[in-house]
Amino acid sequence: MNPAVLDRYEPVIGLEVHAQLATATKMFTAVPYRFGVEPNTLVDPVVLGLPGVLPVVNREAVAFAVKLALAVGGRIRHRSRFARKHYFYPDLPKGYQISQYDEPYCEGGAIEFETADGARRRVTLTRIHLEEDSGKNMHADAGANFSLVDFNRAGVPLVEIVSEPVIGSAAEAVGYLKALRQILRTLGICDGNLEEGSMRCDANVSIRPRGASKLGTRTEMKNLNSFKAVSDAIEYEIERQAGVLDAGGTVVQATLLWDPALGQTKVLRTKEEAEDYRYFPEPDLPPLEIPQAWIDELAERTPELPLALKDRLVASYQLTPYDAEIFMNNLELAPYFERAVSLAGGPAFGKKLANWILTELLGTFRDTGKLPVTAEDLAALVVMVEGGELTGRNAKDVFARLLAGERDPRALAAAAGLLGSVGADDGLEAMCRELMDANPAQVEKYRKGKTNVLGFFVGEVMKRTRGKADAAAVTALLKDLLS
Ligand code: ADP
Ligand code: MG
Repeated sequence: MNPAVLDRYEPVIGLEVHAQLATATKMFTAVPYRFGVEPNTLVDPVVLGLPGVLPVVNREAVAFAVKLALAVGGRIRHRSRFARKHYFYPDLPKGYQISQYDEPYCEGGAIEFETADGARRRVTLTRIHLEEDSGKNMHADAGANFSLVDFNRAGVPLVEIVSEPVIGSAAEAVGYLKALRQILRTLGICDGNLEEGSMRCDANVSIRPRGASKLGTRTEMKNLNSFKAVSDAIEYEIERQAGVLDAGGTVVQATLLWDPALGQTKVLRTKEEAEDYRYFPEPDLPPLEIPQAWIDELAERTPELPLALKDRLVASYQLTPYDAEIFMNNLELAPYFERAVSLAGGPAFGKKLANWILTELLGTFRDTGKLPVTAEDLAALVVMVEGGELTGRNAKDVFARLLAGERDPRALAAAAGLLGSVGADDGLEAMCRELMDANPAQVEKYRKGKTNVLGFFVGEVMKRTRGKADAAAVTALLKDLLS
């Protein structure tokens, strides 16, 4: 984006995020949902909106929604209401969506996240409400004059999280979304998969002259199904609006569709054609009651939130913020790490264990989603290294065997004769001298300046000690003897 635009204009962004709740069944009926299943197999009369059916609220969906409200510090209404939002579209069999309107179950709250420079930002929320997802239209290839509709997604519980218009850049918008996604995942209520649509984002963008207090006219962009799309679309739109204002024009309030291939937006509808949803209270459902006792019960089971975890890992184990963030973003890693720390004997082992996990296990974990070495074995290995029972070099060999599926590092090391270490007092110097006597030509080379011969001698010592010598100590000793 042309940075000069930002000298003159201040972007203002507000995000609307839809998150599918990973409940066992749909919002108003006992039909399960899974992504990617054969079309129109996860349906029943309620999902299809057939006449004569009645919706029944899914208690688990409400519990999930309350957990989110608690995590973001929102105000929960003890008595909220569902409303009908009408529009005509083939993916909406009833002709209306059951949503919440003037009495959402949650208002206020905030999402905290870190910007690229490590500063913390809080974006306040307007509201969170519960609703049901629509089906999905599948348009045939260009030229074919028909579309298909899949109702599997219809009726899946959603929360819509609406932010205040207080986000100042594309980077901040992405930071906010990533933080929100990690909260959803930590709570175990949504997998946050943008590509599969379990988390979807609409971005509202306006600009105003720097220093102005009145908000500019906004446009709303849809179809942002990756963080890159969110970022690209917002930057594109900021620049486009600046161009309009610079040319003396006015921004027209509109709903736009982002085309990732073209890197452009196209107008879906303008304000004049904006839909009138004719909201009214849902007559088929009683008010939604969320008693305080239930909220308290759910609050007790709220897990540690991502940024709190990050802060604690830095404070308790002196991890770098960078490393702590990797743990924060990979849910299964932190419990594994902390279990290994406690098995090893305490926080003093934290940094070493974190290093092993992040350098030796993270790759496999990312590829397979599995941790191939048990916390017990990793802890035992690190304890042996720290206690001088196993050199770092031999620990790598033992670790390779753990990775290959073997267990019990102490037994493995013992069986392979790798236990113990050879120190300076254990005849290391004599061994070096012996090697030098046996290789006078190499000694000559070293003394004539070919110092890379050192590697040969260190290698020989390692071979003879079966890797039990401290490589740094051997190097120092040899340098001393050779010079
Ligand atoms: P609607 O329901 O029509 O989409 P809302 O008033 O609920 O309208 O706002 C939806 C989103 O638009 C919110 O996230 C809000 O922060 C954002 N928004 C509202 N006004 C502006 C504006 N002038 N610039 C940028 N974002 C805005
Ligand atoms: Mg909107």
